[in-house]
Amino acid sequence: MKNILSRIMLFSTLIIIVISCGKVMITGRNQMLLFSQGELTSLSNQAYTEIMSTTSPSTNRAQTAMVNKVGEDLTQAVEKYLKKNGWESSLEGITWKYDLVKSDQVNAFCLPNGNIVFYEGIMKITNTPDLVAVVMGHEIAHALAKHGNERMSQEALVGVAGQALAAYVGSESQKTQMLFGLAFGVGSQLGVLLPYSRKHEYEADRLGLIIMSMAGYDINVAPGFWEKMSDGKGGTMEFFSTHPSDANRIAQIKKVLPEAATYAPGK
Ligand SMILES: [Zn+2]
Repeated sequence: MKNILSRIMLFSTLIIIVISCGKVMITGRNQMLLFSQGELTSLSNQAYTEIMSTTSPSTNRAQTAMVNKVGEDLTQAVEKYLKKNGWESSLEGITWKYDLVKSDQVNAFCLPNGNIVFYEGIMKITNTPDLVAVVMGHEIAHALAKHGNERMSQEALVGVAGQALAAYVGSESQKTQMLFGLAFGVGSQLGVLLPYSRKHEYEADRLGLIIMSMAGYDINVAPGFWEKMSDGKGGTMEFFSTHPSDANRIAQIKKVLPEAATYAPGK
């Protein structure tokens, strides 16, 4: 009996995988997405409200303006490209918003609903528009490539979280909420709790540079930015603990620069 049950479970799992295959914009990589963008958007909206209730907007006008300007430039450029090239489904459920918040944390993130939050602490390192664009392009790429949904889907099926969830008696929406919390953290821990996989990080680096390039920013500052933070030099800074920079990462970034350059305006 148990055998039959596990076969049925395996079979239904396979069906789920077949029917929920998506493709990452631009790279065309196949991915498994078990959650709807609507679910991700509504959970992101809740998380955003929670974060903003624990912090306040920065009073630094110049830096706030810089974060907004870079955000608008990058998202407008990538939206135009995606709409023109048949990837507009990647934009579903995303409404871009940019915030710089008062906090010494060296961190920045983008939620799956398009809410991009920079902390004042990271502005000491991203002190030019091009450097803001390195971090912002990377974070926008995570959102557009649906990395959060993919990660929650993997966790639901095979991860430790999946096992705990299978044993957990609760509604489907409660389970989805738990997975979201694991992927993105909540409150002050948001964006710090769990880093993305290396595969997602490298893909976000590559797509982030492409997005930067589309908006006409200088992608050549990227290797220097990551080098400065490599091999533990990022120390306890939140962003670099979830984005470890080593020789492999920097080599990969250098390798994709020529490809990213072909997306520059006028190329
Ligand atoms: Zn990342």
